[in-house]
Amino acid sequence: MSAAEKHGSVSAAKEDGSVSAPASIDWGALVAAATAARANAHAPYSRFLVGAALLADDGRVFVGANCENAAYPLGLCAERGAISAAITAGARRFLACVVVTGGPGAASPCGGCRQVLAEFGPSFPVRSVALDGSGVLDSSVAALLPFAFDPAQLPMIDEKRRA
Ligand SMILES: [Zn+2]
Repeated sequence: MSAAEKHGSVSAAKEDGSVSAPASIDWGALVAAATAARANAHAPYSRFLVGAALLADDGRVFVGANCENAAYPLGLCAERGAISAAITAGARRFLACVVVTGGPGAASPCGGCRQVLAEFGPSFPVRSVALDGSGVLDSSVAALLPFAFDPAQLPMIDEKRRA
């Protein structure tokens, strides 16, 4: 059994959960970017360092690291940091996300981050990687968060205002 199987790697669901990580994506570069970001994580309380890398549709890669706070609930996840950096730089559509942790096992995004990722595309792939080699999990936003709350469910918000 491979590490990916051991940790519940999702394989090939389409439409509903679109998985099978696209080969055209430079996963190695994204893992490297997320790993570098992780090194800057501010996680003095949990010591659970996380890095995330987000590939925008224009080829740019945005990264984030978790940023904890002495007031625990104020901590921010790496994925949301990456999303914020991307949005600040004008990116809106994403092709892939990588989340890197130390292990053991691949850690997928928390529930809150799943909803935030879903805001920008329900079907892009999400790869979680454990740096100790104990797990790789290929999934997608849709597979991680089926039946996500969708901006389209806000009838008063038209396309123009969402952009
Ligand atoms: Zn999170």
